[in-house]
Amino acid sequence: MRDNGKYTDTVFADKEFDKKFLYNGKDLGARCEGESTTFKVWSPLAESIKLRLYRDNDSEVCLESELRPEDKGVWKTVFPENLHGMYYDYLVRNGGVEMSTADPYAVGCGCNGSRSMVVDLRRTDPPGFESDAAPEMQAEQIIYELHIKDFSYDLRSGVPEEYRGKYKAFTVGRTNGEFPTCMEYLKELGVTHVHLLPFFDYGSVDEAGDGGQFNWGYDPLNFNVPEGSYATDTRDGMVRIRECKEMIQAFHDNGIRVVMDVVYNHTYRKDSWFQRMVPGYYYRHKEDGSLSNGSACGNDIAAGRAMVDNFIADSVMYWAKEYHLDGFRFDLMGLLTVELMNRIRRELDAEFGEGEKLMYGEPWGADNSPMETGVRAALKENVRYLDEGVGIFCDDTRDLIKGHVFYEEEPGIVNGGSGLEEQLLHAVTGWCDGETYFSPKSCAQIINYVSAHDNFTLWDKLVMSMHGEADFAKRYEDVLAANKLAAFTYFTCQGKLFLQAGEEFGRTKSGEGNSYCSSPEINMLRWDRTVEYGELVDYYKGLIRLRKKMPGLCDKSPLAVKRITERQVLGEGVVSFQVDNRSESGDGDWEELFIIYNAASGNCDVELPAGRWEILADGRETDCRRAVAETEKRICVDAHSGMMLGRCRCVRQGEPG
Ligand code: CA
Repeated sequence: MRDNGKYTDTVFADKEFDKKFLYNGKDLGARCEGESTTFKVWSPLAESIKLRLYRDNDSEVCLESELRPEDKGVWKTVFPENLHGMYYDYLVRNGGVEMSTADPYAVGCGCNGSRSMVVDLRRTDPPGFESDAAPEMQAEQIIYELHIKDFSYDLRSGVPEEYRGKYKAFTVGRTNGEFPTCMEYLKELGVTHVHLLPFFDYGSVDEAGDGGQFNWGYDPLNFNVPEGSYATDTRDGMVRIRECKEMIQAFHDNGIRVVMDVVYNHTYRKDSWFQRMVPGYYYRHKEDGSLSNGSACGNDIAAGRAMVDNFIADSVMYWAKEYHLDGFRFDLMGLLTVELMNRIRRELDAEFGEGEKLMYGEPWGADNSPMETGVRAALKENVRYLDEGVGIFCDDTRDLIKGHVFYEEEPGIVNGGSGLEEQLLHAVTGWCDGETYFSPKSCAQIINYVSAHDNFTLWDKLVMSMHGEADFAKRYEDVLAANKLAAFTYFTCQGKLFLQAGEEFGRTKSGEGNSYCSSPEINMLRWDRTVEYGELVDYYKGLIRLRKKMPGLCDKSPLAVKRITERQVLGEGVVSFQVDNRSESGDGDWEELFIIYNAASGNCDVELPAGRWEILADGRETDCRRAVAETEKRICVDAHSGMMLGRCRCVRQGEPG
């Protein structure tokens, strides 16, 4: 049973253990209500647990209290006073070894997160937060992936110095004075959701250190506490909570929903609060007893164990309720389980209404991980078992359009790839035409994208694949055209849409493919580029507006695939298809769409289907309306560009006009 004071994995892998110690209460952690404060932790094999209280983050212990064991492995102590604002940790004895640990269930913590904080959460609400609500769900989900520090680190953001790189930057109104930046810019862009890279408390940035540090934040320390380095005061644990809420409120006030990037697949270090509280329970092990490493970060959380699943599901619900978040993106979801993802979906739907909160994730791991028995990994190949409301990043569409993410020279269809036409015609249905190796239930499960924080920016990938060793600061017209065609392509595929911040202004990281701990200067959004590449920004803006108007492309039902007809390969690099664009309500200006991708290097003359058509987008302009003369039977699509035409309702074929 025991090995050097630790329990071996076989104890925990035994389902009897979970049965015996399963605790479904939602009250773990520290709670102060009125004149009392209750501390509860789950540690079924502990021999003793002592609470230590501190007046602040750095002072000596001021009070101690032994916890008493209750049922189901829960330990508890109650104080007859409201301890809001006090800091605390535990001394836990397991297998004769005593360890100090912060509270895995803490909702507040001090600088660098090693002391937990007792928080009366109502006292952390900014003014008006109780009436804060998400803006209404729009016809389409267009998700913008953003890192909190990237957003406002650039001086040209115009954000005041003390707010640059912080939660507070999102609360600043008109900022730069010359052209829209930050929130003003996002509002004009028209995205419906902002997806923020991890902002629960992570370990890789010293919160007491200087502001020039940078990390993406995929290294969780305290899962239910916001990161401190984004707060204006890292020492008072209240500030990070309040300012994080202010940020979310500011998004809502500006009509944008907020998705949180959550990393439940591993912890920053294997010596985590989990490990100190219940040694061995929270991690997967290989047969030889060593930790599995499907995350490539040194450890894998053992999703599939009852109290691990409870922790993750409760944590998601906590963020949704307490912080009013509108969606969750699961890092390396393939290391979590189908059962857990579906459970979270059900719980979110029951609490907030069906589909109200977005859920999607990476349907892969970095490596294999030994799953618990009786569960399915939430991998792409298992997408058919996932609830329709759980989406997956679609790497097939991504790689098809711009080429492989790791091999910079390998092209996709927009940058010189060949033989991809048939695949592209599957992609337009969100891979729902039953002709692929994975089987989404509907395109609601598909997140279409061509760039994210991982790997090269789209601009850098295109520059490298089209120009080899190149000058990333240079303006390449052919890259610009390829970028537009890439955007046009995924914006006209069924499914949800996702873009990395700055994709729409040719964001470059100078060819750096993994900037997770590079300087903020490499990572930050350079706002001047929104003007320099204003033409590209406008192109995206038009695509966003256009997409929202198209019921045929926005349809997420399992029947949406039937709207796609007349799929044709017209030549090398050239395909076309039609979309039944009628809506249930019968409104909308175009009953049918005709979409052509011309990735070839020559212009293409395409036969128009019958009817009266308008050009709605081409390689230069998006969301335009240019009538095609009724006598025209053909249309010219420029090289390296896409075209969308709409057939006007008034002249529907076969119906009296
Ligand atoms: Ca931190």
